[in-house]
Amino acid sequence: MTQQKTKKYEFQSEVKQLLNILVYSLYKNKEVFLRELVSNAVDALNKVQFEIMTNKEVEDKDAELRIDISVNKTNSTLIIEDSGVGMDREELIENIGTIAHSGTADFLKKLVEAKDKEQVDLIGKFGVGFYSSFMVAEKIHIHTKSFHKESPAYLWKSRGDADYTIAETVKKKRGTRIEIFLKKEEKEFLDKFSIKNILAKYSKFVPFPVYLENEKIEAVEAIWTQPKSSLKKKDYIDFFKFFENTQEEPETYLHLSSDAPVQFNAILYIPKTSIEQYGLFKPEPGVDLFSRKVLIQKGSKDIIPDYLRFVKGVIDSEDIPLNISRETIQNNIKINKISKYILKKLLAHLKTMKEKDREKYLRIWGNFQRNLKEGIASDFENKEKISPLLLFHSSKYPKKEYTDLNDYSKRMEKSQKEIFYISGLDLETMEKNPALEAFKQKDLEVLYLDDPLDEFVIEHLREYKGKSFKLAESADIKVDKKKEQDKDYLKGLAGLVSYLKNTYGEKVADVKVSNRLVDSPCLLVHAADGPSVQMEKIFKMTNKDYKFAKKVLEINPDNALIQGMVRLHGQKPLAKDLKLLALQLLDNMLLREGVIEEIDDIVPRIQEIMLQAVKKATPAAKPKKKSG
Ligand code: ADP
Ligand code: MG
Repeated sequence: MTQQKTKKYEFQSEVKQLLNILVYSLYKNKEVFLRELVSNAVDALNKVQFEIMTNKEVEDKDAELRIDISVNKTNSTLIIEDSGVGMDREELIENIGTIAHSGTADFLKKLVEAKDKEQVDLIGKFGVGFYSSFMVAEKIHIHTKSFHKESPAYLWKSRGDADYTIAETVKKKRGTRIEIFLKKEEKEFLDKFSIKNILAKYSKFVPFPVYLENEKIEAVEAIWTQPKSSLKKKDYIDFFKFFENTQEEPETYLHLSSDAPVQFNAILYIPKTSIEQYGLFKPEPGVDLFSRKVLIQKGSKDIIPDYLRFVKGVIDSEDIPLNISRETIQNNIKINKISKYILKKLLAHLKTMKEKDREKYLRIWGNFQRNLKEGIASDFENKEKISPLLLFHSSKYPKKEYTDLNDYSKRMEKSQKEIFYISGLDLETMEKNPALEAFKQKDLEVLYLDDPLDEFVIEHLREYKGKSFKLAESADIKVDKKKEQDKDYLKGLAGLVSYLKNTYGEKVADVKVSNRLVDSPCLLVHAADGPSVQMEKIFKMTNKDYKFAKKVLEINPDNALIQGMVRLHGQKPLAKDLKLLALQLLDNMLLREGVIEEIDDIVPRIQEIMLQAVKKATPAAKPKKKSG
């Protein structure tokens, strides 16, 4: 073979990192490299099939679409060959030498940071594509010839370290031939029986014939075209594993078929793991569009809305023309019909699960709640179908259990016009919020929103079955007072209120006597229907110049501390102690809400108050004798 004009290239640094991890990884399941190679061959065959079907100029147009696997024991190579699209020089550099998708780069970052055990998990869960072959290979040669007419063939070579070479070569047929020169300790992959087992395990759904040493391997017919009655649970699970290149079973699946008004078959899955949950990349859409078993679009953006990108599977419709262009998929009436139908069924499936299989639904919620919430904001048409799927914590279920809007509204008294909610970082703090004292006394249920997205969701929902949402802190809910305060006290109280107003100045919107507190001395509430503090904190995170809205400080006339302050104000309105208490009263609330901006005065002030307390407890002049 001629080796003239061999050019050397360096792998992109991310690829180098990845290769380094793979070569030294503790990942035991090395056999998955074969699955990755077969899956790439399938992709390449799908692509060329599409090109042929749409009548483009294709090299070797009549070549059989197939995958050939063979071994060469003399030089310890395992060879995987396909008659797919092949690659030209640029494609080799683009596809094999670099990590193109930003997602893969994110994944890699996680992989680099992960500890050994987590690394192994990540490799197993998400697969690492072509590069995984370097777990077993000393070196790899790729012979490839593009389907474009007149394109020369290339030979790519690498030992999986820093660089690779590409040279023009001679290859008669279109497609890609990958030679894996196995490491000494990986010779088991030369054994036909082992290879057969691996193929049976991972690759039995391959939609093209696979030959092992020229012997055809048994394959399974495209499962989505088979009648439901002939399929078992295991078939669906196995297909998912094949389809997703994973060892993990799906959480649930849905097989849909229709003959009219449009013909289609679909198998859809919800996985057990969320890539986004892992803090990894936003996944590409996961549903492939076929027409009579020919792949039209991998990861179709137009058939399932983006917020359901975690749904995986296939949709096959003979009503979709093969030569449909990507642009017209969006506007194709039949595809729109299928899309609508499938979405309806999917949301209904989730609802059924929520009602019939709570445990499963809770796992799905744990993984994909953010997607559903995104749906509320982005899918106006289906808002009403998604909202019953939302789960919330609530004052009725303190033990981290969930309720939903439907159940909440069933529990509402007739007279209750609003759905109350409060937001915060965790349930414990929300439960202790003094704003809820009146709600507790009146046994009114309050939803606890502990996900920062929840408030956006509520804003988009606006109402549920005619009931609007109301932030508990702004709601007009009063406690029932047991007895009236006497006149003198009320006068003193009014005096304290105006004293506090003066003392706080610009720091608050107002000071008022509260009728919503039972135990706590005071509470900060919204002057009007503003965003919750939780929301304000998000604003602040995105804009450091954001100024927290001024709040109203409400004081509780039945609280002993407030009563004491009323007395002190009546007797010594100019006392330094009174000022200290007043300032600290407000700062305590700001601290509790985590929105304090001037922190410097607080510690000296608290120390001053402590000093007063200690002086009162043990007057310095005559130290107390030990008693008893
Ligand atoms: P992925 O399959 O997820 O894209 P891989 O690492 O498995 O990632 O493959 C990288 C890319 O290399 C593929 O997207 C494809 O463009 C190209 N490639 C790999 N194997 C083949 C093949 N047999 N024929 C044509 N292109 C291939
Ligand atoms: Mg791949």
